[in-house]
Amino acid sequence: MLSFKCKCPHCHNEANHNITAIAYYKKIDDKTDSVYTLIKCCKCNEPFIAIFNLPTKERVEAQKNVETREYRRIFTREYITYPEPKQPPTHESYPDKINSLIKEIEKVGEPFAKISFIRSALEFALIDIGIKSDKDSLFDAIQKAYEKRLITAQLADWAHIVRKFGNKAIHEIEATESEAQEAYDFLKLFLKLIYEIPAVIRKYSNPASSGNKEE
Ligand SMILES: [Zn+2]
Repeated sequence: MLSFKCKCPHCHNEANHNITAIAYYKKIDDKTDSVYTLIKCCKCNEPFIAIFNLPTKERVEAQKNVETREYRRIFTREYITYPEPKQPPTHESYPDKINSLIKEIEKVGEPFAKISFIRSALEFALIDIGIKSDKDSLFDAIQKAYEKRLITAQLADWAHIVRKFGNKAIHEIEATESEAQEAYDFLKLFLKLIYEIPAVIRKYSNPASSGNKEE
């Protein structure tokens, strides 16, 4: 089966994904053709379409024999995917370093590498909001965040689960896809709670914007 190296717009995994169907369409421009390929991600199994534009002459030549190198050249052309890749969940209220880490998390495929970046983002956020000092372990910092009512007991429990995934990933270079997904879901929720929500509250609790007296 033909495969094509590209980034899956669903899970962002860059790999050789399987081309499951190919269709040829002539564009309005009489010198250029589009080749539409239906691709199935080798990681998340979701389908997407990659569209290649190439000169009609080249397409006709390539299509004469699908076993040739000329044919495979179609897939070295510039392409767009449908759907377009999702935007990484960065946010203007997050520190730049967190946003950079999120972009890295989106890029890496290996679950242990993903979890290592997630752990770094979590640690950085805890330091940034003044919860974690140099002598605090991540365990201490999570407890402090709970004691200061920044997170609920439930979220603290979840944080400890994710912390253990992080330890395993860093020390044993071992992690599963579902651990990486869970850790990432936790991080996204955590960042919303400590950066995004306070930013919204600050916006509306600005004295200039609220004229109501306490009743
Ligand atoms: Zn995928």
